Amino acid sequence: VVELSEARKQGGAYHDQVIEAAFLHSKLGCYFIGPYARRVSFASQQFRSLDLVEALAMKNKLPDPGPVAVLGGGLAGLTAVAALLGRGCKVDLYEAARDVLTRQREAAHRLVHPTISRWPMEELSLTTCFPFYDWGVGPCHRIMENLALEWRRYFGPAGNRDEDLRIITDTKVVGLISHPSGDRHVVSLELEQGAAARHYELVIVTTGYGAEHSLGAGRATSYWTPDQLEEKRLGNTKFAVGGCGDGGLIDALRLVHNEFAGGWLAFAVAERIAAAADSRVPAMLVQAEHDAMMMWKSISCMAKKPAELKPDRHRMLEPLHRAYAAAVAQLPPDVTKMLDDSLVDMPGKVWLVAPEAKVTVPLSAPIHKLMIVHAIERGKVEWKRGELKKKAKGYFYRPEGSDADEPLRDREVVQRHGAVSGLEGLLDDEQGVASLRLRQFMLADRIEVGPTRQAEPPLGYPRQAVERRPTAEFISSRHPAAVATVEAIDPRFTIDADERGFSYVLLSDEPDPPPGSGRRFGVALPSRLFGMVHTRHGELSSFDALA
Ligand SMILES: Cc1cc2nc3c(=O)[nH]c(=O)nc-3n(C[C@H](O)[C@H](O)[C@H](O)COP(=O)(O)OP(=O)(O)OC[C@H]3O[C@@H](n4cnc5c(N)ncnc54)[C@H](O)[C@@H]3O)c2cc1C
Repeated sequence: VVELSEARKQGGAYHDQVIEAAFLHSKLGCYFIGPYARRVSFASQQFRSLDLVEALAMKNKLPDPGPVAVLGGGLAGLTAVAALLGRGCKVDLYEAARDVLTRQREAAHRLVHPTISRWPMEELSLTTCFPFYDWGVGPCHRIMENLALEWRRYFGPAGNRDEDLRIITDTKVVGLISHPSGDRHVVSLELEQGAAARHYELVIVTTGYGAEHSLGAGRATSYWTPDQLEEKRLGNTKFAVGGCGDGGLIDALRLVHNEFAGGWLAFAVAERIAAAADSRVPAMLVQAEHDAMMMWKSISCMAKKPAELKPDRHRMLEPLHRAYAAAVAQLPPDVTKMLDDSLVDMPGKVWLVAPEAKVTVPLSAPIHKLMIVHAIERGKVEWKRGELKKKAKGYFYRPEGSDADEPLRDREVVQRHGAVSGLEGLLDDEQGVASLRLRQFMLADRIEVGPTRQAEPPLGYPRQAVERRPTAEFISSRHPAAVATVEAIDPRFTIDADERGFSYVLLSDEPDPPPGSGRRFGVALPSRLFGMVHTRHGELSSFDALA
């Protein structure tokens, strides 16, 4: 809990913007966290949840006695639940699956990083600074495991919250009906399988980004489902990856880099560029992304059909692509060598297919765009402007401007065409969707990052005591996440905790970290984890040292 700026204390423009980005005129009483914002990351969804609860509190919109309904038990939903409990609200949490946090629980093949998707516009940081559901870089399934542990310990049934929290799992909400009731406005939730509707004054919708687009009938394999792509990369198989959002770029990079290692290569490249004092690359990318975003927002507000906006969008991509090509040419020599050494031998191993004029779309993370432009320049990825199609006879590719489909006989296809929208079914009117989409696109990415939130943890949750000295329980609450972060970076180390803080413990004196670990790529072990210090020599640290 950190001092708020004066503007935030007064419930100023930032809070208005937060509410406006989540509010919909046809669903009074309902507030939507995403899913139409551009920043698609765990941390940004958590920021949105914390900000919305703070803004609703500042504007006296939290019902007393409640309860508030939260729809969706992903990380955004759980963050909203904790923030609401911290404000003294009662909460009913609805989750369609058997348990919370199920979507990414198996994703051992994906590394997640708190800030990589916004670098260099924002600084790299290995851990988040949230007052609860704090996490650090590591394999997605380990992060989810630790967050689920925190949920069970402090917020779920084991947290002894019968009074203020009801958890309703295995229950999909299929409709939201907003209507006046006496002098108030209430929202009725329609539940699947004909269960009786429930009524609330305030509903926070955190149903996420939904299933991913599929080319044919049936579901696309989720981004979070283990796929053995690294193993498939070995050998002579060629691939066609569809989509140039982050999902497509990451999977193409996994296929052409022998050393992608789940994502460590990308983090290490970003860290090295950031540490190179004389590199102009970060400033070039910040400028180019800013200019492209201005243009894109302006274009997207024009009242035309999406197809009619195509020429404007293509014009916008030219300068952005030029900036990335220039940045690749100006990479620090050690970074260029690291990238070149990691590429597979086979030219044209991967086709990247999408209808955009250039591969560098404003939506995806700069680090992935930089690396894909490098791989294209080295001939390992071929950029194919056009469309992937699926028919009864298999997959086809149609080049832009052609009306003939070419069969993709010799390529394995990976579909990464983005998510559908987690609001399907919940928002039925087209105008409402259009209104929410536009406002979230314009407003929901303007997040004030940093530890500036007034989010009180609920009663019973460990907290940092006065003067920011962690209590012993606070230290033990962050311990599993600290261990996961450090072991992912360098498995020769683990973290010990006592009432004074964390310390590193060397488990093995092997001189080199094993292949595939972050340290191997140059990602440094953090000197501060979750705000806690350690000493270089591995003795137990004291918080007096921090002072
Ligand atoms: C393809 C893809 C790739 C991504 N890659 C990354 C990445 O590399 N790094 C990163 O930080 N972020 C990434 N993200 C974003 C990340 O997945 C989300 O930010 C994260 O899941 C946020 O959590 P959430 O709670 O908003 O949504 P979710 O995790 O999707 O949780 C939503 C929950 O709501 C439940 N639910 C849905 N509908 C209903 C309903 N009608 N009734 C009741 N419950 C319901 C679901 O079962 C689920 O538990 C990616 C997203 C996508 C789509």
